[in-house]
Amino acid sequence: MKHTQQPNIAIIGTGFAGLAMAIRLKQAGLDSFTLYEQAGEVGGTWRDNSYPGASCDVPSHLYSFSFEPNPRWTRHFALQAEILDYLNHCTDKYGLRPHIRFNSPVRSARFDEDASEWVLTLGGGEEVRAHLVISGCGSLSRPSIPAIPGLADFQGKLFHSARWEHGHDLAGKTVAVIGTGASAIQLVPRIAPCVKQLHLFQRTPPWVLPKEDRLLGPRERKLYAALPSMQWLHRQAIYWKYEGRLPLFISRLPIARIFERRALRWLERSIPDPGLRAKLTPNYAMGCKRVLLSDDYYPALLRPNVELVTEPIQTVTRDGLLTADGKTRPVDTLILATGFQAAEAVSPFPIQGRGGLRLEEVWRTSAEAYLGTTVAGMPNFFFLVGPNTLLGHSSVVFMIESQVQYVLDCIHTMKRGGFETLEVRKSAQERFNQRLGERLGRTVWSTGGCASWYKTRTGKNTTLWPGSTMEFRWRTRQLEPGDYHLEK
Ligand code: NAP
Repeated sequence: MKHTQQPNIAIIGTGFAGLAMAIRLKQAGLDSFTLYEQAGEVGGTWRDNSYPGASCDVPSHLYSFSFEPNPRWTRHFALQAEILDYLNHCTDKYGLRPHIRFNSPVRSARFDEDASEWVLTLGGGEEVRAHLVISGCGSLSRPSIPAIPGLADFQGKLFHSARWEHGHDLAGKTVAVIGTGASAIQLVPRIAPCVKQLHLFQRTPPWVLPKEDRLLGPRERKLYAALPSMQWLHRQAIYWKYEGRLPLFISRLPIARIFERRALRWLERSIPDPGLRAKLTPNYAMGCKRVLLSDDYYPALLRPNVELVTEPIQTVTRDGLLTADGKTRPVDTLILATGFQAAEAVSPFPIQGRGGLRLEEVWRTSAEAYLGTTVAGMPNFFFLVGPNTLLGHSSVVFMIESQVQYVLDCIHTMKRGGFETLEVRKSAQERFNQRLGERLGRTVWSTGGCASWYKTRTGKNTTLWPGSTMEFRWRTRQLEPGDYHLEK
């Protein structure tokens, strides 16, 4: 490898994935990397999703880097601002800021075969070259705008939950929220008390369990600061509790019914009106869509100024929403809590690999990678949080750290052997995905009787890992050279 000792590395994005990669590269003595960030600050999804009530539904002591425990978490489930602070803290502590080019969106990437380098085109048209590219763009970064007729003609205020308009005061407004997923159930209880009227448009009721959040008081925080081993034990306890839930998703054990009954009891206790309760009762298996955690969502629906609308939306008019029953609800503000384009086969930007191969074409029907990280025809290109690396049961930060370790091992292998390029074999990728598909076919995500963002329109799950996080860690601990073309 020409750049053997210090390969020039481009990392795209500064969310959990990009920052973890940069920190571990630095720790490994690989200093010649640049992070390209489209925005003016770090944080990825935790910068973009700043809607009222935004918080994590995985406990903070697990939803953080293993190498950077944070004894200062103030809640079991941290709010968005605290997670963003944590990411800024990591950026500063590990000296990453000088490596970051802010306001530098990567518009395209092209592999220059003669030079064995990637050419990245940035927002302003500038071209930069890198020997290795690591994408940390994530899959929950592109808001999904629903194709509802008339949406473009709406004359009131319209925005997506992931692009919250903080300058727009909701006090006294009549507001519509479309969607009842993880984002909606967090923001609805927060905005309901200040708006005049809230119409919440539900297409499919989610399964909701109590969140049971709690404050982590000064004594607990002092304990973790003084005795890091106690914090480590706490993290382990959370990790194994969540890992233990995997069978609920991958095998239809009767134990899943226990959780469904618990959720139905919670619904019954929270919603006395049988009519409203019926509207909120899911008709698919729990876990098929993401299981939501909330203590205040159902109570918010009991407020006199909140209406749950289950009639399908027919059109958005200039000043409201018309439902299939012919009723129009005038609104001032329309909030789309309609999620992200996660499963559909989209590459984060146009990527052209070996022989002019275009990733958009390869992924046109569905996104596939090897261990969610490498793609045949795309030498020296790595995806963090790539296809089938998200989870229904635990912390994606654990998966990110596994992938980062894998990428480091790929780089070390190239350095040791003086290899110029590393590219996964098509056969290895196909074998991997064939097996993945068989395993996914048996999970609740496939058999539970629902549509979800986990799957493409044709029903293929391109987002979730169907095994334990331990299995993923084991399989990404080191590169299997036989699965790769390594060229000098
Ligand atoms: P989501 O789970 O995909 O929910 C989107 C909602 O919009 C669904 O209720 C969906 O209904 C509805 N919807 C979409 N298109 C519609 C249309 N044309 N008409 C009517 N309704 C429509 O999106 P999200 O709530 O933003 O969450 C996405 C993911 O982000 C989560 O699953 C989670 O992984 C992550 N997230 C995490 C947290 C956290 O606490 N860590 C917080 C927020 C988000 P259907 O169900 O019928 O499709």
